[in-house]
Amino acid sequence: MAVVGVLALQGSFNEHIAALRRLGVKGVEIRKPEQLQTVTSLIIPGGESTTMAKLAEYHDLFPSLREFVQMGKPVWGTCAGLIFLANKAVGQKAGGQHLVGGLDCTVHRNFFGSQIQSFEAELSVPELVSKEGGPETFRGIFIRAPAILEAGPEVKVLADYPVSSNRLSNSDSPIEDKTENPEEESKVIVAVRQGNILGTAFHPELTADTRWHSYFVKMSNEIIEEASSSSLVPAQV
Ligand code: GLN
Repeated sequence: MAVVGVLALQGSFNEHIAALRRLGVKGVEIRKPEQLQTVTSLIIPGGESTTMAKLAEYHDLFPSLREFVQMGKPVWGTCAGLIFLANKAVGQKAGGQHLVGGLDCTVHRNFFGSQIQSFEAELSVPELVSKEGGPETFRGIFIRAPAILEAGPEVKVLADYPVSSNRLSNSDSPIEDKTENPEEESKVIVAVRQGNILGTAFHPELTADTRWHSYFVKMSNEIIEEASSSSLVPAQV
């Protein structure tokens, strides 16, 4: 069974822990490298990625976080957490920030603009639609949100969002909401999965809808089960 850690340096870690509790799963606050050994899976929450990176550096967390991801353990980054997990981030101030990496993506840190350009949108997420029915879409809360501009071949796109092509070719200026002219419409990626890594540019922990948390817990249990059954295979003699 998954034991889910939540990186608790800054940002919306309490909200993630509350969402897990609603599913009957205990979330463990992670602030020190050794605490990562007590969990099977990890959520890196939204917040402010530069501040989070400074705190992670202060607590010497980067080597253990990288090891956790590279070992194939389940990790989910939301918003600033997604930026942390990307191999490359653009749209940063000079000098940039440390990243954990692992996700073969280029992320624009503030693609959707500043706090006042935050918005909510219904996203089509086929992966979350249950066979027994239920909602067809997920309401994404985007707060100073990043977007994925490029994703490698191993990355599965779980949701995207329409923007103007013009906006994409000039991704350093703040976005206006959807384009007025559908002919010029393009898309950015806002949710992905690459093996053990899940990334969302929005904040599922700020909604009452726990489907993303269920998805992550299920994904964690599958990965744990796979790892334990492969380690049970007797060594060839
Ligand atoms: N764009 C923010 C950053 O750079 C992330 C915003 C968020 O997590 N809500 O950290």
